[in-house]
Amino acid sequence: MFLHSLRARIALVFVMLMLVAQAAAFVVINSVIVKNAHRNAEEQLSVAERVFAQVLHGNSEQLTQAASVVAADFGFREAVATHDGKTVGSALRNHGDRVHADVVMLVDLDGKLIADSADVGHEGMAFPFPKLIRTVATKGDASSFGMIGGRAYQLVAVPVKAPITIAWVVMGFAIDDALAREMSSLTSLDVSFLTVNDNGEWGVLASSLPQDARAALKDQAQLAEDGYATRILRLHSEGQAVAVLLERSMNEALAPFHRLQSTLLLITLLGVIVSVVGSMLTARSVTRPIAALAQFSKRIGRGDYAEPIEIRQNDEIGELARAFNQMQEGIAERERRITELAYMDRLTGLPNRALFNDRLQQAIAAAMRGNHPLAVMMMDLDRFKYVNDTLGHPIGDMLLCEVAKRLRAALLRETDTVARLGGDEFAVLLPTDDLPAARLLAQRMLRALEEPITIEGQLVDVGASIGIVTFPHNGTDMNVLLRRADIAMYVAKRSNLGYALYDERHDQNSAERLSLMSELRQAVEHDQLTLHYQPKVDLATHRVKYVEALVRWEHPTRGFVAPDQFIPFAEQTGYIKTISRWVADKAIGQCAAWRAQGIELAVSVNVSARELIQSSLPETFDALLHKHGVAPEWIWIEITESAIMDDPNHAIETLDRLHALGIRLSIDDFGTGYSSLSYLKRMPVDELKIDKSFVMGMSQHKDDETIVRSTIDLGHNMGLKVVAEGVESQEMLERLRALRCDLAQGFHLSRPLPPAKLEAWLAEWTVGNQQALAVAREQT
Ligand code: C2E
Ligand code: CA
Ligand code: CA
Repeated sequence: MFLHSLRARIALVFVMLMLVAQAAAFVVINSVIVKNAHRNAEEQLSVAERVFAQVLHGNSEQLTQAASVVAADFGFREAVATHDGKTVGSALRNHGDRVHADVVMLVDLDGKLIADSADVGHEGMAFPFPKLIRTVATKGDASSFGMIGGRAYQLVAVPVKAPITIAWVVMGFAIDDALAREMSSLTSLDVSFLTVNDNGEWGVLASSLPQDARAALKDQAQLAEDGYATRILRLHSEGQAVAVLLERSMNEALAPFHRLQSTLLLITLLGVIVSVVGSMLTARSVTRPIAALAQFSKRIGRGDYAEPIEIRQNDEIGELARAFNQMQEGIAERERRITELAYMDRLTGLPNRALFNDRLQQAIAAAMRGNHPLAVMMMDLDRFKYVNDTLGHPIGDMLLCEVAKRLRAALLRETDTVARLGGDEFAVLLPTDDLPAARLLAQRMLRALEEPITIEGQLVDVGASIGIVTFPHNGTDMNVLLRRADIAMYVAKRSNLGYALYDERHDQNSAERLSLMSELRQAVEHDQLTLHYQPKVDLATHRVKYVEALVRWEHPTRGFVAPDQFIPFAEQTGYIKTISRWVADKAIGQCAAWRAQGIELAVSVNVSARELIQSSLPETFDALLHKHGVAPEWIWIEITESAIMDDPNHAIETLDRLHALGIRLSIDDFGTGYSSLSYLKRMPVDELKIDKSFVMGMSQHKDDETIVRSTIDLGHNMGLKVVAEGVESQEMLERLRALRCDLAQGFHLSRPLPPAKLEAWLAEWTVGNQQALAVAREQT
């Protein structure tokens, strides 16, 4: 665990290195010291050996000289020759004492003791070292070691000449502890004199060692083991072998080095401690900034870019810290960019749907906590597609930017949000406002868009539809609020109201919608739908050549359901396709049936915006015309103006194909869809139907009459027939006739009727017409 940290590992490596280095130095130095001590000891031994030889040689010279002096003394020689024992004895003693000889003897030519100064031997005894005398006789002088009476001596012999050799003077020093100590002080070694028997066993003759240490002197191997360097010198001896043992205690020899060793050990130890502390500090100075960087990157990980890391160092770690700071800035910048891209609409710079939803969610939470209302508005531009298609996408984009600018300017408060949800759809969030404020803002927004917009010299005219919901009145869930704002917006659009507040009646709940859907399916399958036909009367001839087919639903339990109540729903769900096919089949079949009866009626069929976009519409009609054997010019198709203006290019394409089949086209509800003249010119239409709201308003409002009149003129100028619908009175009929309107349709003439009733009405109308014509003819 401890070793997982970088700091510990660095410290450990340092300490190990240091230890190895110190240990190696210690071992090397130590071995040098020991080797040196041994060499020193050896050298000392060699020196001692030479000194020893020198001393022995000196002793031998001294003895020889003293002996020679005695031997040369005239009186002594005479005493020897005359066998004067007394004189010989005192002369020997005197001269021996002068050099402190321990033994002085006179030996005759037969090798027998004549005199002995120290009474070591006795008169007449054979001299124990004949070889010494033989050697001196041949070589001139000699020295030897030997044992006399259990003691060892260094001996020399000198001839007594008169003038031929008549005897031998032998003089010697005893080998005793005093000599050993003297030698020891000269060589600073322990010196012992030993006898060595035939088995190599040692006996101690004399020694510089204290008494108790002498017992340990057994053999050289034992001494080496005990820590002594030794040297053995065999002395030239007669009889039992005599040797000198020189000893050097290695412990003593090493003593000064031991001090050096402990000093060295101390230094090593200090080195280790210093290196431990040093490596810890180094490790910390490395790992502390690393820990700080790790902390810093964790902060970045959490998305905290508030502060950069502090840089104190100028080394690699400082460089790393700088790189971290650059990375932090880079990440922060990119995140800003990403957030911008994720939450901004790039064209207009307004918040996008994601951000709007975010803010709405937060606003809802805040409103719940604070127990206050909030309002949401959904806005859709009218005729935007038309602008986009006619003037091009770049203009469309500029228009959206201009709209965005105006909406932003229309906001009253900083806290309000206007967002572009996509396409020409915008949304507004008023986080603390209730209905009155929302209504006011909706009006401001609409007014802002009423101001003419000029883009690259082109005057562009757009309007908008706004749906308003409030929290908590219309819901407390974000998705519910948004969906309901959308529904309210569609209500505003359909009814040309500008803005609309959400109302529950707009929005059947989904269960109800689901059952309506299945009921609508049954309606087609169980033949609950029927078609009623409403005649269009020719205002000039009073003849009826055209009828409009209008769908009816005889619901088994609800009774009669008006098309306004299920057609919009069918459009939303896509079921309109099935209904339309059914209607077209039925209407074209009816047309064929009437023709077979000799009733020549052209039948108009209503088509929804959705189907217009659907490109298979012409094929469907073509197939039905063939199925029933009906000529295409007997069938008319009515399309509302707003359906065309939703997507003019697409609509024109489908209309062209229908027209190519020979089918006639009529623009329904004309006057409500803001179509431009240039568009009308491009469309292959044959008829305009003035919206019934203008026709019915004609008697009250001057404006409406103006619209009706100018529509009639416009249609005629373009070579189109003009139909007025919603004619509810004779007065309206007369007025329209005066305005030279071509056809009239309305309750005043006839309600939409089932086929049989229409046939009856037609018969009556024709008779009435004839009578009226007859009356008219009579009057003229
Ligand atoms: P629309 O195409 O404008 O049809 C004319 C509507 O005006 C019919 O309502 C008709 O009954 C009504 N009307 C006729 N004369 C008068 C009058 O003098 N005064 C008044 N107040 N109203 C009059 P209806 O049949 O309820 O149809 C409503 C709408 O339903 C139609 O408006 C049409 O848009 C749609 N619709 C009807 N049948 C079909 C169909 O088969 N297919 C499609 N796609 N839509 C249909
Ligand atoms: Ca119609
Ligand atoms: Ca109409």
